[in-house]
Formats: sequence, structure tokens, C-alpha cells
Amino acid sequence: MDLRIGQGIDIHRFKAGRRCILGGVEIPSEVGLLGHSDADALTHALMDAVLGAIGQRDIGTLFPDTDATFKDADSIVLLRKVWGIAKAAGWRIVNADISLLAQIPKVNPYVTKMRERLSAVLECELERVTIKATTSEKLGFIGREEGVLASAVVLIQRE
Ligand code: MG
Repeated sequence: MDLRIGQGIDIHRFKAGRRCILGGVEIPSEVGLLGHSDADALTHALMDAVLGAIGQRDIGTLFPDTDATFKDADSIVLLRKVWGIAKAAGWRIVNADISLLAQIPKVNPYVTKMRERLSAVLECELERVTIKATTSEKLGFIGREEGVLASAVVLIQRE
């Protein structure tokens, strides 16, 4: 049994007039997230964790922000590509655990939907993908409502 662990981290800043998409779910919010793609920091952290676990570089290398193909890209589509690479190499998910630090918006009502979307792409049971959301107690850039930070850890295995 081959087991690998990977971790990923991502930050995106808020910007008025953008959509707020986290974990593949659009969250009602007065401000959205700025980025070359849809700026889904939670899914980006998860992708980097998977890439680390399978010994690949990172999403910046795979999907460069200089490439117009990825302008406003749906990060769920990118995750599907990342998981396709892992799956082709024989990996499956043991579990993925993700933390989101955000002062705003309130994401707890949407966590189950995020877990459903992500576990569907990763082709694993819902209970293998967990998401926690917390604030930063109003400290730092998160507390000033300037942006969000997501951190992900994954464990994968192959026979
Ligand atoms: Mg990102």
C-alpha cells in the first residue's frame, strides 16, 4: 500500500463586482474574490494539496495566469483535470481536510454543498471531504475583510 500526503494553501483578495465562489459554490456576498480564474481559493488549495501528494508542481505551473485559456476559469473544471492526472496514476482519496479562514461572508450554510461538489469531482464518499470555516477574530488581512485564506491537506493511496 502506497500512501502520500499533500498540503496546499491559497489566498485571494476581495473585489466589488466579482462573484464569490468557494468550494465550487457561489456564496451570496457583497464582495467577490479577485483572480485570473474564478478565484476559488478553497478549490485552489485543494488542487495544490493533490498535486503535492502525487509529486507534481503546482496549479500556477499547470494553469499559468499568463494563459488566457484560464481567464475566469471554473476551478471545478481545473480540479477535474488535476484529479484526472492523479486518477490516471492509480491514486484514490483517503481523505481531504480543508480549512477556510474568512471574516466574511458566512459560509457555514454552504459547506455541505461544497463537500458534495468536491467529493463528486474527487470520486469519493462525502465523508472523506471535510471543510471547516473560521474567522480570524478580526485580526490581520482576513479580519479587515480584505481577503480569504484556504488551507488543505489530502491523503491519497494506491494499491
Ligand atoms: Mg488561487
